[in-house]
Amino acid sequence: MGQRERFVEACIILRACLGANPATRRLALLYNAPMRVELLTIGSEVIRGATLNTNAAYLARRLGSLGWIGRRQVTVPDEPAALRAALREALERAQVVITTGGLGPTFDDVTAAAIAAATGLPLVPSGSAAAHVRRFYKAHHRRLQRAALRQALVPAGAAALPNALGTAPGLWLQLPHTLLIALPGVPGEMRWVFEHAVLPRLRRLARGPALAASMIRTVGIVELRIEHALRRLRLPANVEVGLYPHLQAVDVQLTATAPTARQAARTLRQADRAVRRALGAFVYGSGEDTLEAVVGRLCVARRATVALAESCTGGLVAKRLTDVAGSSRYMRGGIVAYHNDMKRKLLGVPAHLLSRHGAVSPQVVRAMAEGARRLTGASVGLSITGIAGPSGGSAKKPVGLVYLAVADRRGTRVLRRQFHGDRAGIRAQAAQVALDGLRRSLSALPLPAP
Ligand code: ATP
Ligand code: MG
Repeated sequence: MGQRERFVEACIILRACLGANPATRRLALLYNAPMRVELLTIGSEVIRGATLNTNAAYLARRLGSLGWIGRRQVTVPDEPAALRAALREALERAQVVITTGGLGPTFDDVTAAAIAAATGLPLVPSGSAAAHVRRFYKAHHRRLQRAALRQALVPAGAAALPNALGTAPGLWLQLPHTLLIALPGVPGEMRWVFEHAVLPRLRRLARGPALAASMIRTVGIVELRIEHALRRLRLPANVEVGLYPHLQAVDVQLTATAPTARQAARTLRQADRAVRRALGAFVYGSGEDTLEAVVGRLCVARRATVALAESCTGGLVAKRLTDVAGSSRYMRGGIVAYHNDMKRKLLGVPAHLLSRHGAVSPQVVRAMAEGARRLTGASVGLSITGIAGPSGGSAKKPVGLVYLAVADRRGTRVLRRQFHGDRAGIRAQAAQVALDGLRRSLSALPLPAP
């Protein structure tokens, strides 16, 4: 190809990436430019702030795994005119438009009709959508109501997407220049339809350089330290790193891009291994792993059992541990010893420790962990005591001060932490660090430095 041709092609690709002209949009597909995706959230409750828009956040994250970055997110109320206008605008700009909400059978569910109006397509009965609705009612032993069959009216040409969790099928409508996908609003249903019916189809569409992505989950290390450690690794330029901080945890997402899927997978494998090595004991899992599930797996593998003595977390750690199915195999139990009397009577904390050092002290937390272990015969005892606030703090013991202790056959270790935030945040952080204490005890790792 001559220089002039190359220049012309570069211009075409550039226009394809930037342009709103339908002809250039097609070229964007052809030349593997990143897809322009827009998310349209439909729901008056979201506009009012009564419902947090978790659907848009979820979709944006999942589209990222395809290497697709959303260009715009719009929220409109359940009003036909507003929805029609937003749809027309999005269809004019984007290559892929994904809507959530308003697919149900009630009068305020106006999405299918608005799509029909915005695209000029008639609403027609869909055999597969009707079959889906009937099947759902039958499986749930519910009498089919006529209104439910409203959900079987779809814009002509739209395919119904199966929804195992609800009556409203999703919609997949390939328009001349834009792909329009409509998903239910109920978060669980939206996720199910997206994961099972949409993502596999989008993957087939997502031509171009292959992507491979992994998620490394860390606890107890802050974003800046991770960034510092990763900078020293000098990962190849085709590996992108995303850091997603939560309370006392940071998820590290790696995305490798390469001409073929095999190359992408190999690059990712090497990068993933290097990052895990660099972050060491701070890595607790990957993908969708939770800290409590990892603790559970460690308990099963080590044939260990756990007992808790919680004060300021009020049972939060017990709740998270028992969120995991099968936790009765290793979770002996937990005591919420809120009042000093309970710390004394139930856990055997000596009265003089309480009076001399106070309930929030290394001495008392140590006695609590040992008491829980002694009382239950568990192999690991874990305790927490602290000041969750907003009141009750002092200059020596400020709000957010938390002591944790882990007692196992190697002895008892105490950790002092100063958290910041509101009551809920301090308790959540304490529970997270406590679970990490269990993980470390079960992996024979030292407790993290404060
Ligand atoms: P349904 O069959 O229940 O009518 P739908 O597709 O019509 O489903 P909506 O009626 O819009 O969905 O929403 C149903 C529920 O899902 C509501 O409780 C709402 O709060 C929740 N929901 C809707 N949109 C979102 C969103 N963007 N993020 C989180 N939750 C949402
Ligand atoms: Mg609804």
